[in-house]
Amino acid sequence: MEDFSVRIVGTTGAVIMSEPVSPWYREGLQFECKVCGRCCSGGAGYVWVTQEEIERIAAQMGLAPLIFEQVFVWTVAPQKRSLKEYPNGECVLLGDQTRRCRVYSERPTQCRTWPFWTQNLYSPNTWAAAAASCPGCNHGKFHTLQEIEEQRKAWVE
Ligand code: SF4
Ligand code: SF4
Repeated sequence: MEDFSVRIVGTTGAVIMSEPVSPWYREGLQFECKVCGRCCSGGAGYVWVTQEEIERIAAQMGLAPLIFEQVFVWTVAPQKRSLKEYPNGECVLLGDQTRRCRVYSERPTQCRTWPFWTQNLYSPNTWAAAAASCPGCNHGKFHTLQEIEEQRKAWVE
């Protein structure tokens, strides 16, 4: 289990105090996706993809990475690429009828780690705000602190 200690370091670099910090979700949290598609639609946003993710998703769709990128990805800034979305804010990879991700098993880390993002886990209030938009939060599968932390650290925007 990870050490959550907070260290206060003096001007000489010596550790003055090292206190263990226990996150408010230390007993774990429930989350299980209800496949409502809400997090893949709504307002404008970004779904960041790395080159590796582009290649994996393209392979799943049976497309060459370059073709996949031309059709489904846009470059927001150098080294910052996002999946495209429709004018209504839906991700281009969301199935219109099924409301399921068309590349679910290969979805980007950003999607895979939801809702265990640092900004959602910051406090019970931020978690409640995430839960207000995602009906999967606080329902279904139980996730331990370790599982949550692994996901939280896997996604840094
Ligand atoms: S909003 Fe939550 S429950 Fe709905 S698809 Fe997204 S993760 Fe699943
Ligand atoms: S890649 Fe899949 S899971 Fe991620 S936003 Fe698009 S449709 Fe949703």
